[in-house]
Amino acid sequence: MAPVAERLLERFEQRAARAEALAESPSSGREPLRFAAGLFRAQGRAAAGVLQAHGQDALSGSLERDVLRVEAPLRSVLRFLSESGPVALREASRARGAEAADLFSARLRTAWTGGPEERQDFLSHAVLRPYAEALVHAGVELDRPREPGSGRCPMCGAPPSISFRREMPGSDGAARFLGCGLCGTEWPTNRIRCPSCGETDPTRLPGWQSETHPAARVEACETCHRYVKSVDLSLDARAVPEVDELRSLALDLWAIERGYVRLEPGLAGL
Ligand SMILES: [Zn+2]
Ligand SMILES: [Zn+2]
Repeated sequence: MAPVAERLLERFEQRAARAEALAESPSSGREPLRFAAGLFRAQGRAAAGVLQAHGQDALSGSLERDVLRVEAPLRSVLRFLSESGPVALREASRARGAEAADLFSARLRTAWTGGPEERQDFLSHAVLRPYAEALVHAGVELDRPREPGSGRCPMCGAPPSISFRREMPGSDGAARFLGCGLCGTEWPTNRIRCPSCGETDPTRLPGWQSETHPAARVEACETCHRYVKSVDLSLDARAVPEVDELRSLALDLWAIERGYVRLEPGLAGL
């Protein structure tokens, strides 16, 4: 395997290994973490398949043009979901997998080019991630609507699915980053700014934590009623934000009960 594909596989494997390790710790909900581990491995293999296609003849970054060449690896993610996903997802994945090839690719194209207000459907998102992440990894520009400076992913234009804080050498306090659940990109952002509507008034940006999982936090916005989950990496440098947040799904339920909508669902689909 080419070194570039090995590095990409390793990124997915690190996430899977973290999810497996957390699934064994007592205060975690096991099922979402085990599911995440399996999904990351399936996505990693699919991403390596996408890179292989890219190595034979460069992919364009336009799903419309690339779809026939990446359909086989992407379908393998759907197969994983239909065999090992949560029950509700298994049925939906089987139905999706049984659809004719042109409908399969039409759905993916809609999810890929969907407008900014379109909320990703979980299946399309899970299936498209290996394509998106492999393209970013290979330096291919993604043909998706992007709005620089909007709080959305600078590489693919998706809303962030996670936020995290990390100690930076030489700076006071932790710096804030956002993470993309579609292409795996992480980017720095202002400490006080809603990534959905751009609100910067701190009195309109409340945050909540629970004693059970002190590293996790809900960062909400009173203006647009969206929230992102945040993970504090200064408490545990081994944490992988989109994996570690799966330990505190109770916080999501708490926020949803209060009328907030998660800006972009995480791996638990919340
Ligand atoms: Zn992205
Ligand atoms: Zn907002």
